[in-house]
Amino acid sequence: FDSPGNPAHAIFERFLRAGECQEVLGCFVELCQQLGLQGTGLQLYHGLKAALNYWNAKALWSKLDKKAGHKDYDQGTACAGTKCLVVGAGPCGLRAAIELALLGAHVVLLEKRDSFSRNNVLHLWPFTIHDLRALGAKKFYGRFCTGTLDHISIRQLQLILLKVALLLGVEVHINVRFEGLVPPAGKAGGWQAVLQPSSSPLTQYKFDVLISAGGGKFVPEGFKRKETRGKLAIGITTNFINRHSRAEVEVAEISGVARIYNQKFFQNLYNKTGIDLENIVYYKDDTHYFVMTAKKQSLLKKGVILQDKADIESLLSPENVNRDALLSYAKEAANFSTNYCLPELEFALNHRGLPDVDMFDFTCMTRSENAALVREHNGSRLLLGLVGDCLVEPFWPLGTGVARGFLAAFDAAWMVRRWAAGTPPLEVLAERESIYQHLSQTSPDNTNKNITQYSIDPATRYPNINLQAIKASQVPGQRKSDHRLSMAAPGAVYEELLSWCQASTAGYPGVAVTNFSTSWTSGLALCALIHHFRPDLVDFDSVDPQDAIRTHQLMLDIAEQELGIQPVLSSAEMATMTGPDHLDLITYLSHFYQVFRTSPG
Ligand code: FAD
Repeated sequence: FDSPGNPAHAIFERFLRAGECQEVLGCFVELCQQLGLQGTGLQLYHGLKAALNYWNAKALWSKLDKKAGHKDYDQGTACAGTKCLVVGAGPCGLRAAIELALLGAHVVLLEKRDSFSRNNVLHLWPFTIHDLRALGAKKFYGRFCTGTLDHISIRQLQLILLKVALLLGVEVHINVRFEGLVPPAGKAGGWQAVLQPSSSPLTQYKFDVLISAGGGKFVPEGFKRKETRGKLAIGITTNFINRHSRAEVEVAEISGVARIYNQKFFQNLYNKTGIDLENIVYYKDDTHYFVMTAKKQSLLKKGVILQDKADIESLLSPENVNRDALLSYAKEAANFSTNYCLPELEFALNHRGLPDVDMFDFTCMTRSENAALVREHNGSRLLLGLVGDCLVEPFWPLGTGVARGFLAAFDAAWMVRRWAAGTPPLEVLAERESIYQHLSQTSPDNTNKNITQYSIDPATRYPNINLQAIKASQVPGQRKSDHRLSMAAPGAVYEELLSWCQASTAGYPGVAVTNFSTSWTSGLALCALIHHFRPDLVDFDSVDPQDAIRTHQLMLDIAEQELGIQPVLSSAEMATMTGPDHLDLITYLSHFYQVFRTSPG
């Protein structure tokens, strides 16, 4: 493959095989320098393709071209001009970034860490295997899902996706932590991020879409979490070194021996070792990986947990856990469940250089109430979407995490596509929530069987999906925060509100309502609306059509004092609205709708 005259081929081959996050990034920079390529986005991809046209590279391009040629992406123009910030280079952030890049958006991805260190293994549903193959997974990781294998270590999955993302022109920055949002300072501004280190040049990046994929512990401001408290569930994960010996190859994996299906196995385990489990999964990958749910009593009896405590956080706090006993517990369970056929089980090390054994609480799982929201400030809108664990925390032994994470990444990309096409924001949000309703019930059995047809279009994946199950008027969780946060129209869908406003202001001189922006700037429309229902409050004929700010101030005050409707925009902002519909105005007017709806007018 590596023609001696072309060093770029050798660098590209190193890039394909690179096994550490920093190595991947280093090789990519070197490759671009070698080829004299700059820039980002699909343009960079086309540059790479033109410059690297030997067989191994070409095989990858043909896969990626096939993917990029899907109609949903409109030849990479569907989101041209959309600027996205993705937080988190976990599997779901990377997967979402890839879709956004294919849609032609400008994508910047931030990751606070600088290494991919999770040995733990993820179960893959058939559609995720197909999806990853279509992205060229085997080119980056030859062992990817060979034969009937249906799992991959988290770090290998991240490596594959990182490479694809880079090739498609996603700008990836490691060692940068997202800390919050900076609303636009003025009319010409845009949304920016507070980052650590604060000296990062990315603090200057202005974006209109934020996709948060920061994992279970990171949820951006504005989203509410819902807790589901189940019965006590203590998960243990452990990894042992895989030497790939013949004896190791022969040991069978265990794909979820749920207790109810195999009571005898668990009874024998308990009788012989005192270990009492609800379930156990064993996968062979870079490591021998086990995940099990252990019963509290047996952890107490075996001295893993020192003292029984009512609250789970204290129960599993490091001071209450005997780590050596935990290692023995995990090793004994692994040995028994593989019939003592894995010779010399030796712990793999985690990123801290310690035996890779962890104990987690699955009693309390959280999910976000909403999948997306819109914020608007100084006329700039920001669409925020959640994907992956940050949207719904998965119960690992069920192996649903990455499959549902990918589904949400596709749904988020679809949402951004709709947004970029100019769909009214409340409609975008309502559609996203309609789809989100289904996520926690999805399984390989109730999603479409034809996985080769899956795309970001939800209809290809969810059978009989009703994209209008939730109406724009019902979009929950949109609340007011710092300065202006869009709110859902509480009682009206967009069109309903518009026609109601038109009907209520018809016939007033100088008033022609056709939108939720410029039609309202003179102040006459608002004056007409109030006058139509409450002629006792305003004298329409006496307002000065030339003094919009004063008219607005008068109307805002009357509405607040007489009707109890709080202003959402200032009189100056009302008088200078330009461009597309203003969510704040929609919100504001929807309160009038609520108040006046039942009056004869
Ligand atoms: P993650 O994979 O958690 O990625 C989130 C990324 O965002 C991380 O790289 C994080 O560093 C980064 N990040 C977070 N906050 C910020 C910020 N403010 N700024 C910048 N970057 C940020 N699932 C299983 O099925 N089996 C397992 O055994 C298993 N083990 C796990 C072990 C650990 C320690 C963790 C954390 C998760 C584990 N999971 C496991 C869950 C599984 O990793 C996820 O379901 C899957 O990776 C999809 O997650 P994600 O991409 O949404 O988030």
